[in-house]
Amino acid sequence: MNTMVNTSQLNDLQNYFRSGITLPYTFRKEQLKKLKQSILNHEQDLYNALNTDLKKNPEESWVTETGFVIAELNAFIKNLHRWMEPERAATNLLNLPSASRVIKEPLGVVLIIGPWNYPFQLLINPLVGAIAAGNCVVLKPSEFSPATSEVMKLIIEDVFPREYILYVQGEGASVIPAMMNDFRFDHIFYTGSTTVGKIIYKMAAEKLVPVTLELGGKSPCVVESDADIKVAARRIAMTKFSNAGQMCVAVDYVLVHESKKEALVKALQNSVKQFYGEKPEENYNYGKIINEKQFDRVAGYLSQGTIVHGGRTDKKNLFIEPTLLTDIPADASVMRDEIFGPVLPIIGFSKADEAKLVIDKNPNPRAFYVFTSSKKKEKEWLESVAFGGGCVNNASWHLTNHNLPFGGRGTSGTGHYHGRYSFETFSHKKAIMKTPTWFDPNIKYPPFKGKLKLFKWVIR
Ligand code: NAD
Repeated sequence: MNTMVNTSQLNDLQNYFRSGITLPYTFRKEQLKKLKQSILNHEQDLYNALNTDLKKNPEESWVTETGFVIAELNAFIKNLHRWMEPERAATNLLNLPSASRVIKEPLGVVLIIGPWNYPFQLLINPLVGAIAAGNCVVLKPSEFSPATSEVMKLIIEDVFPREYILYVQGEGASVIPAMMNDFRFDHIFYTGSTTVGKIIYKMAAEKLVPVTLELGGKSPCVVESDADIKVAARRIAMTKFSNAGQMCVAVDYVLVHESKKEALVKALQNSVKQFYGEKPEENYNYGKIINEKQFDRVAGYLSQGTIVHGGRTDKKNLFIEPTLLTDIPADASVMRDEIFGPVLPIIGFSKADEAKLVIDKNPNPRAFYVFTSSKKKEKEWLESVAFGGGCVNNASWHLTNHNLPFGGRGTSGTGHYHGRYSFETFSHKKAIMKTPTWFDPNIKYPPFKGKLKLFKWVIR
């Protein structure tokens, strides 16, 4: 495993960038096509690796990993030319007859750091934006999904020279500070936990490196009394237990109106049985926990309430059954930490204010979901919670629409990406005003005495 990156390799990337080779549209488009082909060449290897790391099946892998990135690549290949065009901006009265425009230029050498839960998508999707915007990239996958990491290395190194895209494996805690000490990146794009996000943010601040932080947090889901309970249960169960709950925008806990609590619990039990059968540990559709550390952490939540479904575990096979939990004490850690596993607390509420108090204990959720048939309630909920993004009558699927910006807010992240938003994240918007020389009135130059009235007329 290549854990040693020396400064000269990073300088090589900088020199490659400064040579201007990554600037033309044709170069960028060509690299996107190469990346797409390389992914397709290794499609089966990726399925095998994602199964080894997380027991994902090929269908789920296509929807959430490979196909997800291919769709992003296709959108970029189709739209890049248009997105690269300079944007004309209006010119205000003060500056007429100048002309104004915004040029989008690459940032330089950027560092992309990925987590283990969607190890392919969350590392390669930002790469698509970075390449399209004309940058050179250092890619750092998580050390906890080693099988996928090895395949990604092949995908990258098959088609890109190391002075353009450098793939660096190893322990984040040693590799990343070592690189950041010796070299100033032009941007850092980080996906992972809030704890490590703070470390990255501090290191970046030392050198005033701009960051995009895609962090975690507790994403609440409100089910109102007028919701379609059967549909709500299916949609909540589907995304909560997909990838064994290890999804940053999975429903973390449910707040359901007391009048529908029993019905929702029943419907969730039915959905879980329907999706994963009586023995989820043997079910094709059900994943596993990534490692023993995460297993111990998530299994610890099982004793913090009444188990109304599931609850079985098998450490040897890193299995935790899809579990529904009720009667949870307000101060339990399952209601403070991001769960990031297949345990779903269900809490009843009578008035919206009560539910709001629970949500406010963990402000700025990454995602928020509300199930209701009332437009009024929908509006009230969307306005009263400050969250990154979310869904009405659905859960998590907003992230699969690349026309929407994907990101957190405050404690759940800063910045956003996907589709055009990725292109913008990895581009600098350079503002240009061009002024003709034939018009150069004295009014703009000293002496200023007596011109106040005119200035007030022009600048207003
Ligand atoms: P993590 O923070 O442990 O690791 C993420 C990356 O940081 C890895 O590449 C790792 O090598 C590196 N790293 C770890 N310690 C480091 C250190 N001390 N210094 C520098 N780098 C270090 O996160 P994770 O456990 O891989 O992922 C789970 C978390 O990520 C959850 O909180 C989840 O919500 C969040 N997440 C967020 C998103 C999103 O899109 N916002 C997506 C997936 C996961």
